[in-house]
Amino acid sequence: MSEILQAVLDGADGAELAALPLPESYRGALVRREEIQMFEGVDSAEKDPRKSLHVEEVALPELAPDEAYVAVMASSINFNTVWSAIFEPLPTFGFLDRLGKESTWGARHALGYHVVGSDASGVVLKVGSAVRNWKPGAKVTVHCNYVDDQDPSSHDDSMLAANQRIWGFETNFGGLAEIAVVKANQLMPKPTHLSWEESAVNALCNSTSYRMLVSKNGAGMSQGDRVLVWGASGGLGSYAVQYVLNGGGIPLGVVSSPEKVELLHDFGVDAVIDRRAGDYRFWLDEFHQDESEWRRFGKDVRGLIGEDPDIVFEHPGRQTMGASVFVAKRGGLIVTCAATSGYMIEYDNRHLWMKLKSIKGSHFANYREAWDANALVCEGKILPPLSAVYPLAEVGEAAFQVHRNLHEGKIGVLCLAPSEGLGIDDHELRERVGEDRITLFRRHGV
Ligand code: NAP
Repeated sequence: MSEILQAVLDGADGAELAALPLPESYRGALVRREEIQMFEGVDSAEKDPRKSLHVEEVALPELAPDEAYVAVMASSINFNTVWSAIFEPLPTFGFLDRLGKESTWGARHALGYHVVGSDASGVVLKVGSAVRNWKPGAKVTVHCNYVDDQDPSSHDDSMLAANQRIWGFETNFGGLAEIAVVKANQLMPKPTHLSWEESAVNALCNSTSYRMLVSKNGAGMSQGDRVLVWGASGGLGSYAVQYVLNGGGIPLGVVSSPEKVELLHDFGVDAVIDRRAGDYRFWLDEFHQDESEWRRFGKDVRGLIGEDPDIVFEHPGRQTMGASVFVAKRGGLIVTCAATSGYMIEYDNRHLWMKLKSIKGSHFANYREAWDANALVCEGKILPPLSAVYPLAEVGEAAFQVHRNLHEGKIGVLCLAPSEGLGIDDHELRERVGEDRITLFRRHGV
């Protein structure tokens, strides 16, 4: 690996990289099949990724014709890394076993360990015989939509494919590692003005927020739309507020500390609610919600943005969905992609049907959407909300930070990159976009 790393750092060209021998093994962050019971009886919030995520040498799998090996310079923590590490809602080995039964190449994935991670930036080392558009030496980021292009259901919108998967969550050989194995149709150009770690944090959350808000498959937001964004300084939310601002909308961010309020103000979001300070108690107990608290929240929302929101950007789930359905305007849309606080949702259906509101489910993004969202990062129109960086050896601590909601924006992980700040090629574009804007979250973080 050290030879490969040195070559990348020295700016070796594609031919030189292709000529280097590939290692038989590489270091990756993994969970173990034999440990899936380790948190039995432990409260969800107390399950500790530091105990279940290990960094170990694993064998380099054979490369399928439509795949590429990527030397991963940096990756990031997504919430799905947390889910994998706490074996919730299901251990991920079931996904790997199902993939294992699909084909000979799929069988490589069903192992006793799962190398996790659904983001990466790095350099292509080798491509399979069927790959046309990418060559060794290409600097790339990786999106996580893993589709079977021989399945008719994967065409039109590949997120509707019957066997669509998320790479590094429902497949093995993910991005929190020195080498990743990806399908060629997951590759996208690396933003030239960003470092490896700034480039690595975007693809999953940025593409998801793009589909939810911008794409016709999501909310198809219009200029002037008022958009309530839960977790507005978190992974998804920090991209969502950028899309609202870029698209001529009016964002209202909800966060949980004065520091996050200040960060969002610095980011250009004027209307921000600190939900802790507001002390909204949507749930009276485990079974009953309090409509008067929805009303109080709605009044605060209206007070800040003048009207009820056209769109509510939902992902906390059980704790907030009742309030989200209530506060959306007549005819408004609640677009949801997750349920961090619980997936058995309750809301008052009268507020939905009598006011002609809709709820739309959304999940990651197809290649087109991921590519378009990545292009906006490449142009400097979407900024990387990188707030903290950990070495691969401390991936458990990085995931712990996200699990405990101690972070802002995105946490980057250095895989092969020996330090932060490497990999920037276009300094002029960086200057034009603005160092201060690019590093805003990093300066707020740890
Ligand atoms: P994140 O970085 O942890 O941000 C989520 C934010 O939600 C937190 O910062 C927190 O902000 C807020 N939040 C958490 N619990 C809340 C609650 N009970 N009430 C109100 N707000 C709450 O995570 P993320 O990357 O944005 O991901 C969020 C969720 O979406 C996760 O469940 C993840 O698995 C899912 N996800 C789904 C997809 C998909 O394609 N379907 C893609 C990406 C992520 P404050 O504390 O500041 O309010």
